[in-house]
Amino acid sequence: MAPTRSLRCSSTSSMAPRLVRACARPVPRSSTTRHAMASPETPTTTTTTTTTLSREERKRQRMEENTNFAVENDGFKSTADQRAICAASFGLTALCVGESLSSASSVADVPELALSALAAYVLSDLGSGVFHWSVDNYGSGKTPILGNVIAAFQGHHSEPWTITMREFSNNTYKTCIPTIPFLVLCAADVDHPQWQMFWSLFSAFICLAQQFHAWSHMSKQEIPKPVAALQDAKLVITRQAHSMHHRAPFENNYCIVSGLCNPALDGSGVLQWAEERIFEATGVKPRCWLSEEELKSSV
Ligand SMILES: [Zn+2]
Ligand SMILES: [Zn+2]
Repeated sequence: MAPTRSLRCSSTSSMAPRLVRACARPVPRSSTTRHAMASPETPTTTTTTTTTLSREERKRQRMEENTNFAVENDGFKSTADQRAICAASFGLTALCVGESLSSASSVADVPELALSALAAYVLSDLGSGVFHWSVDNYGSGKTPILGNVIAAFQGHHSEPWTITMREFSNNTYKTCIPTIPFLVLCAADVDHPQWQMFWSLFSAFICLAQQFHAWSHMSKQEIPKPVAALQDAKLVITRQAHSMHHRAPFENNYCIVSGLCNPALDGSGVLQWAEERIFEATGVKPRCWLSEEELKSSV
């Protein structure tokens, strides 16, 4: 029998506006914030280091000092390792797409490859939604293999503005890691160019989803103009569409590539059906059923 839900909205209605405001403009959270850090725009003490930093870098540094990161030793700047992981993943994607295109022996092959690319774009949005739902609701930072990813997604709901501070590789490398062995196999499968095109682009869109997600938390003035144009065309997840995910009842709008699949995924009720079956089989409640008090005690 389906359990009675204790949705976050029942006890966190006061939390929703805070989260939405947080989406609108990054603000430091720590109650121990020093006076010089009270506002991201407040100038810091002049030192040799800070005067050589750009305004954006100084802001990132102040935010970094005042953020309670969900993952130990986390930060906003990309490390050399993170850049290398992203370069490997996107480099392999480029290799797979190149191999796939070079296999086209006639003009007749092109529509098939274009269809594969389109299918990857649409289905990666659905895949991002199912993946996002799973890590938002199940597991913790201690879960094997995916622990850091789970901690980052679940931590995002308490400090959503931090994603806007992350550099590209810092933001995407966690998703890029598992794609590397998969893309190596994909690159070796030269006999199936349509599948090469599909799986490599599917993987790339899933990796880029975190960057699209970050842009959806920024204002128009903060994102590159071409990205704003893509958002206006609804080809990548928009600020308005994703803000729904951060509002009560916190159980929908999980897709973060384009958001095109959100109405179908939410309307189907398949995620709620899965939550009830998992609860019946294991007794584990998804986090979207928990009250704010239960969420705090589950950490
Ligand atoms: Zn989420
Ligand atoms: Zn978000």
